[in-house]
Amino acid sequence: MSPTRTSDVLVVGGGIVGLATAWRAARRGLATTVVDPEPGGGAAQVAAGMLAAVTELHYGEETLLGLNLASARRYPDFAAELTELTGHDLGYRRCGTLAVALDADDRAHLRELHALQQRSGLDAQWLSGRECRRLEPMLAPGVRGGLRVDGDHQIDPRRLAAALVTACERSGVTVHRGWAERLLVAGGRAGGVLTSDGTEWGAGQVVLAGGSLSGRLAGVPAEVLPPVRPVKGQVVRLAMPDRARPLLSRTVRALVRGSHVYLVPRDSGELVIGATSEEMGWDTTVTAGGVYELLRDAHELVPGITELPLTETRAGLRPCSPDNAPLLGPTELEGLLLATGHGRNGVLLTPVTGDALADALTTGELPEAARPFSPRRFGATVLTEQPA
Ligand SMILES: Cc1cc2nc3c(=O)[nH]c(=O)nc-3n(C[C@H](O)[C@H](O)[C@H](O)COP(=O)(O)OP(=O)(O)OC[C@H]3O[C@@H](n4cnc5c(N)ncnc54)[C@H](O)[C@@H]3O)c2cc1C
Repeated sequence: MSPTRTSDVLVVGGGIVGLATAWRAARRGLATTVVDPEPGGGAAQVAAGMLAAVTELHYGEETLLGLNLASARRYPDFAAELTELTGHDLGYRRCGTLAVALDADDRAHLRELHALQQRSGLDAQWLSGRECRRLEPMLAPGVRGGLRVDGDHQIDPRRLAAALVTACERSGVTVHRGWAERLLVAGGRAGGVLTSDGTEWGAGQVVLAGGSLSGRLAGVPAEVLPPVRPVKGQVVRLAMPDRARPLLSRTVRALVRGSHVYLVPRDSGELVIGATSEEMGWDTTVTAGGVYELLRDAHELVPGITELPLTETRAGLRPCSPDNAPLLGPTELEGLLLATGHGRNGVLLTPVTGDALADALTTGELPEAARPFSPRRFGATVLTEQPA
């Protein structure tokens, strides 16, 4: 076995959540290591990057709304700081979102969402079908109405991930390309990990940020293993060749006969169409049926997409928790913290997560806004000793 290397904080998982956590921890003066075979990979390579606190509102998720809004408010400063440090353009666009309906049922559903948004004090404006098409002329004539939400923005998650890798490196984070095979626990506290090359990485605190794999790290006592599961999402990418006149000027999303579809136009000319939502374990196969449904629904919304070159199809895994909210901060196992379970909002929640974890790592406490998301809400009980 190789000799032990030590740091204050070791982050298992270099997706956007783990990287943001490591960057923010390093900025607070903590010696930080990230372990991941492919830092900057993960779900961000597939995600659309909608920063959609308002249009993603669901019944029963009002607490999550508070965290989503807190993160959305942080985005301008977070993105500016990241760009200044790394020189990376993040594709951060404050272009707004239009959520539309194509038939009476979908319109009724959207009206209900609007009522919920209004009760929650959110800014969303109801538009007629004609007003929707005035904003986005390429929308199908059948659009029956919609919601204009100027506060829901977008970022390019691939660029965000690449920038976070650079930010970590520039902030002195040690990035180790390898798998964490096992959490090391001694004397009733987490003390590091053993990596696939046989190295022991000791650490004062360990943050488990392994996305949909977070519940599978060996050595984590069963009582604190996060209840996170993968939810597969397939996505199609098209190219809008004429960048001067993009097909759409803002994100357009819709319910089409009950299934969700969105089209996210980037400044780069890329048009992202997503996404399916499938409980298929860790399978990331792109299927004909998935691609067909996305293109069929997107075509009903914006018929002109069929003219565009298809450049990529891909599937990724959302790390989902039982209540669709993340698990943040200290666990019942001393020295082990979680930053996982961000589900469909992980890109949006990256800034607030990085800061909340940095607070918890330096003070032992989560900030007020993050407290409802403690892993302890899932009722961890007394810990039993794990075999080494
Ligand atoms: C199709 C799709 C569309 C999406 N659209 C949006 C959107 O529009 N807006 C939004 O906000 N969010 C969106 N999301 C969600 C968002 O992408 C995720 O919530 C977020 O990327 C999760 O980041 P993460 O770092 O927690 O996990 P991941 O991206 O899964 O990264 C986890 C990392 O941990 C590493 N890892 C795991 N176990 C170990 C181990 N034992 N040792 C070392 N490394 C390990 C993995 O290699 C991986 O790199 C979407 C997701 C999908 C799939």
